[in-house]
Amino acid sequence: MKKVIHWFRRDLRVTDNTALSEAVRRAEQVIPVFVLEDAMQTGPDVGAARAAFLLRSVDSLRKNLEALGYPLVIRRGKSVDVIPALARELGVQAVFANRRYEPYALRRDDKIFNALNGIGVGFEVFKDAVAWEEREILTQAGNPFTVFTPYSKAWKARAVAPAHPKLSPAKGKLPQIPSDELPLDPAALGHPLTQSVQEPGEHAALETLKQFLAGPVFRYAESRNFPSEQGTSLLSAHLRCGTIGPRTIYNRLKAAREKATPDQQRNCDVWLSELIWREFYLQILVNFPHVTKGAFRPEYDRLEWSTNEDHFKAWCAGMTGYPIVDAAMRCLNATGNMHNRLRMIVAMFLTKDLLISWQRGEMYFMKQLIDGDMAANNGGWQWSAGTGTDAAPYFRIFNPVSQGEKFDAQGKFVRQWVPELAAFPDDLIHQPWENPLMASRAKYPPRIVLHEEQRPKCLAMFKAVKGGGGAE
Ligand SMILES: Cc1cc2nc3c(=O)[nH]c(=O)nc-3n(C[C@H](O)[C@H](O)[C@H](O)COP(=O)(O)OP(=O)(O)OC[C@H]3O[C@@H](n4cnc5c(N)ncnc54)[C@H](O)[C@@H]3O)c2cc1C
Repeated sequence: MKKVIHWFRRDLRVTDNTALSEAVRRAEQVIPVFVLEDAMQTGPDVGAARAAFLLRSVDSLRKNLEALGYPLVIRRGKSVDVIPALARELGVQAVFANRRYEPYALRRDDKIFNALNGIGVGFEVFKDAVAWEEREILTQAGNPFTVFTPYSKAWKARAVAPAHPKLSPAKGKLPQIPSDELPLDPAALGHPLTQSVQEPGEHAALETLKQFLAGPVFRYAESRNFPSEQGTSLLSAHLRCGTIGPRTIYNRLKAAREKATPDQQRNCDVWLSELIWREFYLQILVNFPHVTKGAFRPEYDRLEWSTNEDHFKAWCAGMTGYPIVDAAMRCLNATGNMHNRLRMIVAMFLTKDLLISWQRGEMYFMKQLIDGDMAANNGGWQWSAGTGTDAAPYFRIFNPVSQGEKFDAQGKFVRQWVPELAAFPDDLIHQPWENPLMASRAKYPPRIVLHEEQRPKCLAMFKAVKGGGGAE
C-alpha cells in the first residue's frame, strides 16, 4: 500500500504496537492520527484524572513520534465522522487500528468500517490489548469461560507472542497535515483537575514495569494486600491507555521469573494471575455484553436496592463513619487511584451495608478513577456485589472493621487519609465509636449504618430474588 493511517486509540505507544508495526511493514507511508473524541467532553462517566492522564499520554506520544520523524495528526470531533473524512482528505488506501472491546466501541468500529468501505478505503483492526481474545480461549464445549480458575489455566497453557519492536525512524520527510490543538489541561474539556495524578506516557510505563520487576514483584503475593505499602505495580492506567503493551509485560515477567528463586516464582505467578483477571473480564464483556446494562445473572436485576441519597453522598465523600471505607474514598477523590483491596471493601460496603446498587458505585468509580476501564470496573463491581460471573457469593460480606484491622493493622493508611483520627490508638483506629468522647472531639462522623444490622437486611434482599434459597 502507498499510504495508510494508523489511528491511535488505547495504544498510545511506539513500541510493541501490533497495528502500527503492521502499518509500517505494509505501507510506504504511515500517517499517525489521534482523535480527541467529543465524548471526552460530554460523556457522563469521564472524569478529570482519567482525562488528564490520557491527554498527557497523547502529548508524550506526539513527542516520541516526532523524534522518529512522524508528526501526529490530532483531530477533534466524533471519530465516526472524522476518520472517514480524514481518509478521503489524505487519499489513503486503508486505516489501521488496534481492536477495542467495549460494546459501544465495537458498534462504532462497524459504522466506521462501512463508511470507509463506501469510499473504497480498507479498515483493518488487530489484536493488541490482550494476549487472547474472547473466542480464542473457550471451554471444551466451545463456550466462553465464566469461571476464572479454569480460564486462567487454559490461558497459562499457551505461549504469548513476543513483543513487537519499536517503531523505526521514518524513511522520508512526512507532509505537514493540519492538526487541532491538544489541550493538556482537562479543564479545557470541562473537567477541572483537583487530583495529583501519576506520571503518564510510554517512558513512565516502561520505567514503572522495570522497577516493579526489579523487586516488588517477588513479594507481591503478600504485599499486594496492604494499602499503606506500595506492593502493586501501578500499571493499570498505563494498560488502560496502552502506554505499555501487554506482550512487553508478559515477556519481561517471564524473563524475570526464569532468574528467580522458587518462592519468588510463586509471587510472579500471583501477579500473572491478576493480569489474567484483566483479560478474563474483557472476554466476559465481549461475550456477555448485557453486563454493561445489568447483572451477569439476570435474576439479580430484580434486587430492590436502597435509594438513600444521603448514604450515597456520605460514601462518595468518605464520611460513612467507617475509617477504612472513608480513608479509601478520600484517597480515590484526591488521587484518582484506589488500592484493589480497598476497592473490594468500599464496593462491598456500598452494596451490602448501604444496600445501594453496584451500578451507582460503578459509575462513580468510572468518573473518579485514573484507570477507569469498563471491563475491569464492571467485573470488579459485579464480583463485589455478588451479581457477577465468578463472583463473591452474595452471603460473603466483608466486615469493614475486621478488614481494616487485618490489612491496615497499625492504622497507617487511615491516619494518612482521615487525619482527624490520627490521635486514636491502634486498637481503636478502626472503631473510633468505642471512644465516643474522643470521636466527637475529633469531629469524625458517627456510623451512618450499623454493619451488624445491615448484614441480615442484605441477606434477606438477596434471598428474596433467589426465592429464599441459597446456602450460607
Ligand atoms: C470494584 C472494583 C473496581 C475496579 N475497577 C477497575 C478499573 O476501572 N480499572 C482497572 O484497571 N482495574 C479495576 N479494578 C481491578 C484492580 O483493583 C486494579 O486493576 C488494580 O487496583 C490496579 O492497580 P495495579 O496496577 O497496581 O495492579 P496490580 O496488582 O499490579 O495488577 C497488575 C494489573 O493486573 C490487572 N488487574 C489486577 N487486578 C485486577 C482485577 N481484579 N480485575 C481486572 N484486572 C486486574 C490490572 O490491569 C493491573 O494493572 C477494580 C476492582 C474492583 C474490586
